[in-house]
Amino acid sequence: MSQWFEVEKQVYMGVFRRLPVVLVRGEGARVWDENGKSYLDLVGGIAVNVLGHNHPRLTEAICSQAKNLIHTSNLYYTLPQLELGQLLMQHSCCDKVFFCNSGAEANEGALKLARRYGRKQRDGAFQVVTAESSFHGRTLATVAATGQPKYQAPFAPMPEGFAMVPFNDIEALSAAIGPQTAAIMLEPIQGESGVHLGQWGYLRSVKRLCEQHGLLLIFDEIQTGMGRTGKLFAYEHFDVEPDVITLAKGLAGGVPIGAILCKDAAMAFEVGDHGSTFGGNPLACAAGVATLRTLLEDGLIENSARLGQYFLDGLERLKGRHPVIQTTRGLGLLFACDFEREIAADVVKSGLSRGLILNNTGPKTLRFAPPLIITPAEADEALELLSASLDEVMAAA
Ligand SMILES: *Cc1c(COP(=O)(O)O)cnc(C)c1O
Repeated sequence: MSQWFEVEKQVYMGVFRRLPVVLVRGEGARVWDENGKSYLDLVGGIAVNVLGHNHPRLTEAICSQAKNLIHTSNLYYTLPQLELGQLLMQHSCCDKVFFCNSGAEANEGALKLARRYGRKQRDGAFQVVTAESSFHGRTLATVAATGQPKYQAPFAPMPEGFAMVPFNDIEALSAAIGPQTAAIMLEPIQGESGVHLGQWGYLRSVKRLCEQHGLLLIFDEIQTGMGRTGKLFAYEHFDVEPDVITLAKGLAGGVPIGAILCKDAAMAFEVGDHGSTFGGNPLACAAGVATLRTLLEDGLIENSARLGQYFLDGLERLKGRHPVIQTTRGLGLLFACDFEREIAADVVKSGLSRGLILNNTGPKTLRFAPPLIITPAEADEALELLSASLDEVMAAA
C-alpha cells in the first residue's frame, strides 16, 4: 500500500472515492504509477486529456507561454485569449466568448446570462428549465440546475429559478415553459449519468420551442465538446444551433479552463455584469490554442468518430463472449456499456490490476472517454484487458 493513501486521508477533504493508485507520469494514451506500472487510459481525466498525456505540441505551448507571461488579469489585452476566442468563433455557430476556469463556472456564467437575457428580453423571466439525470456542476446554482436529487439534498435549500423535466420528453418540456422561463439548458448527450443521447427529433423540437417562445437554448458541451463525439461540437450531429454553449474539460487538453460561447442575440451582459481574475489567462489560453489547432490539423476529430465506432463494434463482439454486457451506446469517443448485474465497480478494480483505467458512472454502467489520439492497436489491447477483467469478475460472482 502506498504511504500516500495515508497522507491523503490526513490532509485532504474526504469527498472523493479514489482508486488505490498514485499516478506520476503519462505518455500518449498511457499513464504510469509510482511503482513504474503502466496503464492504458480509457478515462482521459474524465474527457479532459483529448490529446492524451505529454503531447509535445501542448507541452511545448505551455512551457513557452510560461516563459513569457502566465497571468495578467483581464485589466489588459492578452494575445492567447484573443487567438483562442477567434479560433472558437471560426469553428462554432457562436459570435462571442467569455473564458473562465472550469465547467461549473462556465455554466454558472451561462445561467447569469440567461437571467440577464430574461430581464431584458422576456419581461424579467428568470427560470431555466433543465433535464432529469443531467449534470451541470458543483456550485450552488449548477447543483440546482443538475437533475439529480443526491447532489441537491445535502445542500438544501437550493437557489430558486429552476424547473426539471424528464430528458427526451418534448411534451414535458413544452408544459414546463411559462412566462417566467428564460432559457432551456441541456447536455446534448448526458455524460455524467452514463452517456444518454439526446434524440435528434427531440433536440430539433427543443430548438423550435425556444424560437417560438424567445428562450435561450443553452447546450452544456463541457463533456461533449472538443471533438469528443466525432464532431468538434455535439450540436453538429443534431442540426441544431444553440444560442449559448458552455465548454471546459477538453478545451485546453488538461489545463483548467472554461468558456461561455454565445450568439450575438444572446449576449445580454453589460460592462461589469460578469468577470474573472484567472479566466482566459495566457497560460490556459495558449494551451487551448495548441489543443484546438492540434485537434483540427491532426485529424483527431475524425479519429474520434472512427475509433468510437471501432470500440462500439469491439464491445458488441465482447457481448457474445460476455452475456453480462447488456447494452452499448455512444457517439465518437464518448461511449458506455451497461451490465445486467452490479459489477461495474468490480470491473474497474480488476481493470486497474491489469493495467487498464476504467470509470463507472453507476453500479451497472461503465463510461469511456479515452484520449482522441488513441489507436486501433491500443483499442484492441484495451478490449482484451476488459474481456479478461469481465472473466475474472464473473468467475468470482
Ligand atoms: C464535468 C462537467 C461539468 C462540471 O465541470 P467542472 O469543471 O467539474 O466544474 C458540467 N457539465 C458537464 C456536462 C460536465 O461533464
